[in-house]
Amino acid sequence: MQKVLIANRGEIALRVIRACKELGLKTVAVHSTADRELMHLALADETVCIGPAIATDSYLSIPAIISAAEVTGADGIHPGYGFLAENADFAEQIERSGFTFIGPSADVIRLMGDKVSAIAAMKKTGVPTVPGSDGPLSDDEEECLAAGRRVGYPVIIKAAGGGGGRGMRVVHEESELMKSISMTRSEAGAAFGNSMVYMEKFLTNPRHVEVQVLSDGQGHAVHLGDRDCSLQRRHQKIIEEAPAPGIDEKARAEVQARCVQACIDLGYRGAGTFEFLYEDGKFFFIEMNTRIQVEHPISEMVTGIDIVKEQILVAAGNPLSITQEDVVIRGHSIECRINAEDPKTFMPSPGTVTFFHAPGGNGVRVDSHLYSGYKVPPNYDSLVGKLITYGATRDEALARMRNALDELVVDGIKTNTPLHRELVRDPEFCKGGVNIHYLEHKLGIS
Ligand code: ADP
Repeated sequence: MQKVLIANRGEIALRVIRACKELGLKTVAVHSTADRELMHLALADETVCIGPAIATDSYLSIPAIISAAEVTGADGIHPGYGFLAENADFAEQIERSGFTFIGPSADVIRLMGDKVSAIAAMKKTGVPTVPGSDGPLSDDEEECLAAGRRVGYPVIIKAAGGGGGRGMRVVHEESELMKSISMTRSEAGAAFGNSMVYMEKFLTNPRHVEVQVLSDGQGHAVHLGDRDCSLQRRHQKIIEEAPAPGIDEKARAEVQARCVQACIDLGYRGAGTFEFLYEDGKFFFIEMNTRIQVEHPISEMVTGIDIVKEQILVAAGNPLSITQEDVVIRGHSIECRINAEDPKTFMPSPGTVTFFHAPGGNGVRVDSHLYSGYKVPPNYDSLVGKLITYGATRDEALARMRNALDELVVDGIKTNTPLHRELVRDPEFCKGGVNIHYLEHKLGIS
């Protein structure tokens, strides 16, 4: 691989450009007409405007991206996260056109993109899943009721094609079951073009704990430890940390080993994340993300491994350069997602950043495309940066995060920094191990 096209924008595009430059690869940045001021365009070797502000005609347009790769002679395409990153057709068309998709094969993306087939694959390879219906729910009332009784209420009805926290409904008693199934089914059909639904036990107070993996599709895979992403609002992660605090060590070692084996069994190539709910000392698989994740830097901080560089190297056909023995989890890392939004109402707050000052100091990393004078367009996700701190201990990482948040200045637009400042001083969060409902309870929204 000589030249990588980055089919994304914002902080992740910048992150990927940095990795490519370190590897001595040429880069092509693509952008919409709303994104001419993005920082990484100035750092890329070439830039191509691929369409208008509306993402369906630019960042989500497969022909526009493939044409840009053809015109510039790029040979690798990095999808980042979001947009087309988990679109199996995109991966397939890239490979068919003779380019290298920096990610797993289209077949694996497709398998994991359907939650019913993903769960079946996990069961086969021995990754623990949530007790639930064995596969999709049928239209037969008796069968559905029997599944509900077997699993035990409360249950959650989920769309096989769901994503982004949509296409789910909790059912507390049998009398609500059939109505909930048909509502979820019709919503899923309209939203995802797939009306298949399945049932899981609804876990009442779980934490979100996920395992980062790297695999080369040539029989070698490693895990890079875990992350706790329980601080969420509307299923959107706000703060993440690595490693997850207070996890049962036996359960942790077991689940990490299962994830590695799953990668080998699947012939998985690239970086990936197995997401779990963790309750009463047990892990339950909910989904696999077949791409780089927003929160990957905290795993990089505690392992010293550059996940994006490894991802590119294995896509280029290299075997993994590390073995499990090389992976040593040291210290603790925390990430705060900085969003351009009102810290109280969460309304997006695009506009011109009149002044930007990034924090610094020992153990502080800032992944952000902001600069003074940059105009945040209203068309895309509100994530404008990530503050990441590292410490020998969790307390040290937290203390550094308090300083970093106090030093951060983003003038001209509103950001959720005030909320973060409060959260990193919250006694329960500071203790460690809050569950996925904690933030919404604290905010008084559930
Ligand atoms: P998506 O692909 O939409 O993100 P997930 O399957 O990852 O869907 O679930 C998103 C969130 O929904 C989880 O992080 C958790 O908060 C909640 N959730 C999903 N399944 C369950 C379950 N069985 N019990 C309790 N909460 C669940």
